[in-house]
Amino acid sequence: MPEEKKIQCDNCNISISESEFLKSLKVCPHCNYHHQKGYYLTAFERLNLLVDGGTFVEYDADLYSLNPLNFPAYEEKLSSDIQKTGLRSEILTGEALIGGYRTAIGIGDPHIRMGSVGSVIGEKITRLIERATEKRLPLIIVSPFGGGMRMQEGTISLMQMAKTAAACVRYMETGLFYISVLTHVTMGGNAASFASLAHVIIAEPGTKYGFAGDPTRASIGMEMPPEVQTAEYQLEYGMIDMIVQRKEMRATLIDLLDFCSD
Ligand SMILES: [Zn+2]
Repeated sequence: MPEEKKIQCDNCNISISESEFLKSLKVCPHCNYHHQKGYYLTAFERLNLLVDGGTFVEYDADLYSLNPLNFPAYEEKLSSDIQKTGLRSEILTGEALIGGYRTAIGIGDPHIRMGSVGSVIGEKITRLIERATEKRLPLIIVSPFGGGMRMQEGTISLMQMAKTAAACVRYMETGLFYISVLTHVTMGGNAASFASLAHVIIAEPGTKYGFAGDPTRASIGMEMPPEVQTAEYQLEYGMIDMIVQRKEMRATLIDLLDFCSD
């Protein structure tokens, strides 16, 4: 029998068998470190973790990005990223039951163009919010968008901030309930639009969350203590509401949906 692959925890350095690591949802069973680079969850892994099995109905799976600026090799790289995730489009959106509560849910995948938000992600999130408004469904958006707005689409990607923010405001004016789930890394324009406009903002432990990332700050010579852009620091200053372990996220969402149901 070949020996099972071992993964060394980036935090406590203890070796864990791959099967144990995957069973604990890519979280170290010894020190509870939620592993980051190289071990991000895909959108489908998160979907399976959060929703009632077999209840997900996908929206808008046929939307795909064009290359409006003729950015070199953009279409090829984007299509290769999407294929690796098993998704049919750039983000998973649809509706599903969570603990029996019908919910509109969007789940990003950090493996697509380094988790940047292009026009299709903005459009699919906006359509998700608008459908949730029409159908009067609670809304959950899981953000793993650390790459900011997608530079390969220029101003068209920046416009997604205003579009998604406007949809969020119209949704919340109707008295419906929006939960934003932040996962490592959530930065840039999405942190400054739909990800931060929810009634309840939940982060996984160790999530990096803020606006200007390291390269941006370095380019203007701005120094900042590294802990400022962590979920733990942001919780202390009221920018987020809760930090929830990955294994407890589904139960927490069900509690919140239950609390806010009619
Ligand atoms: Zn560990």
